[in-house]
Amino acid sequence: MNSDLALRQFVSLWTKIRLDRIITRGGQADPICSLCRTRQEKTLHMVAKCSYATTVWTMIASNGNFQLPPLQDVHRLYPWWELMLGAGNAQADHVQLLVYTAWNLWKERCRRVFDNKGMSPANLVAIIQQDIALYKQAHTQENIDRL
Ligand SMILES: [Zn+2]
Repeated sequence: MNSDLALRQFVSLWTKIRLDRIITRGGQADPICSLCRTRQEKTLHMVAKCSYATTVWTMIASNGNFQLPPLQDVHRLYPWWELMLGAGNAQADHVQLLVYTAWNLWKERCRRVFDNKGMSPANLVAIIQQDIALYKQAHTQENIDRL
């Protein structure tokens, strides 16, 4: 997976649906982050700096055997993504873990905004790990089927 392409697609999707942009264009929405309910909903906040996201990333890093980089001096999404890529082994598994985690944070945000439901960080991490395991199982089965 091309990590730059994955980031561009992710950011494009996220920024198009961000609530502060909807409000700026005259729509009605709650500008507060639906994950922590304490800060304004901005892309970098939701994916990286939100207390909910930080808890998820900490659990993912612990399970994925990589160290989360310090984020206090990070103010833009692309530098954050570069730090996260550099925190792992830069192999496809690490990129997949980052993309699946970011994608599931987005899905959790949408679950809270549109379905008025939410799950704990531990449950979200379990779903992320299950998604990745199913992906790997499916691709292993593809390889077996080709034999
Ligand atoms: Zn938040």
